[in-house]
Amino acid sequence: MFGTVPVVSRSLAEYEEIIGAERYAEICRIAEPLRDARVLHLNATALGGGVAEILASLVPLMNDLGLHTEWQVIRGAEEFFNVTKAMHNTLQGMFLPWTPEMREVYNRYTGLNADFFDEEYDFVVIHDPQPAGILGELTQRGREKHGKWIWRCHIDLTDAQPDVWDFLRPLVEDHDAAIFTLEDFVKKDLGGPVVFVIPPAIDPLSLKNSPRDEATVEEVLRRFGLDPARPLLLQVSRFDPWKDPLGVIDAYRIVKQEVPELQLLMVGSMAHDDPEGWSYYERTVRRAGEDYDVHILHNLNGVGNLEVGVFQSAATVIVQKSIKEGFGLTVSEALWKAKPVVAGRAGGIPLQVLPEETGYLVDNVEQCAQQILRLIQNPAEARRLGEAGREHVRRNFLNTRYLADYLRIFNGLATQSADSLRGVAK
Ligand code: UDP
Repeated sequence: MFGTVPVVSRSLAEYEEIIGAERYAEICRIAEPLRDARVLHLNATALGGGVAEILASLVPLMNDLGLHTEWQVIRGAEEFFNVTKAMHNTLQGMFLPWTPEMREVYNRYTGLNADFFDEEYDFVVIHDPQPAGILGELTQRGREKHGKWIWRCHIDLTDAQPDVWDFLRPLVEDHDAAIFTLEDFVKKDLGGPVVFVIPPAIDPLSLKNSPRDEATVEEVLRRFGLDPARPLLLQVSRFDPWKDPLGVIDAYRIVKQEVPELQLLMVGSMAHDDPEGWSYYERTVRRAGEDYDVHILHNLNGVGNLEVGVFQSAATVIVQKSIKEGFGLTVSEALWKAKPVVAGRAGGIPLQVLPEETGYLVDNVEQCAQQILRLIQNPAEARRLGEAGREHVRRNFLNTRYLADYLRIFNGLATQSADSLRGVAK
């Protein structure tokens, strides 16, 4: 056993009001053949970042449908997470040395984690590169492979550093299937697993995404020194170069010249597997300087899911100025709250932000500032985009759709050959 993550219980019936009776019945029907299947989701962190956010609802919903589903996190110390963060960065296109020592650290922790793999499952879903070597390690030790293994890639591999991808590729190729967020992220030289292309989704019933009354919103804003009467620009993101928090501050500064009462709030959580978080947080604070209208908060300041949801509901405009992005759950979270979004043209963001329909896509700081200003000055347009955005998310990016996708993949892998699936996947 690794570390098991406790989850709140969820019932699919609670979602019927949002998705309708027909869809609800359809999901129950897809789940029926999987009753009592044993499922393991394995990732690197229980807290912080999109994967943890997704599993917090997906795991209890699978359980509600009769699959015995566990969420466990691999173990690792700082030296391992330094290596896996370097892998994450290089796989997303940053150049860093990929040394024999780094490979040794990755392999050593993979071995330690393989020691904890002491149960059998019908489906094992391995999230991202950190636990990707476990299956290969078990096979090397002569353990018979049990069940279907799926590698779920949440990151953008388009510009992956070749030597790092060459290291990861054979590990991924041991799996039966691989899921990517976008067709563009699928590496052409990946042979072996059946490939599925599926974007993730948000939980409309989570504490973060449930509606809040005005009194709560006002109380939370005041608690963090924000003025509810003044416009608020918000970015919710880990402190990470790909999320471009420095660019957000630069864009805010340009808008501030036209809208002096503007406040900027940047909220980031410190993920357990992200050792870079603190140093990038410090850089962000330095960039903000002495502007007391820039508020930079993180989970250790008492900003939990409720507060993040309140900030998203209270924002005038939400920005997600990513340079590289897997999907960007924060964008769907913002749109679900009917907020206009200005976001970087990166990864899965263009699936969510349809230009002039649900928000604006931008390629640099100047464009970002221009669109933020436009939305602050045009509340009617901001409302129209936000409302269209909420509908777009309702149709495409709720976790019930994602749940159904997983169930279909499990059914397909359990009953069809890889070759017959290859024709229908994607
Ligand atoms: N998040 C949060 N608190 C924070 C920052 C982020 O709860 O201070 C959540 C955010 O609401 C979203 C997830 O972390 O649900 C981030 O997912 P996303 O796909 O946007 O980015 P990732 O961190 O996976 O790159």
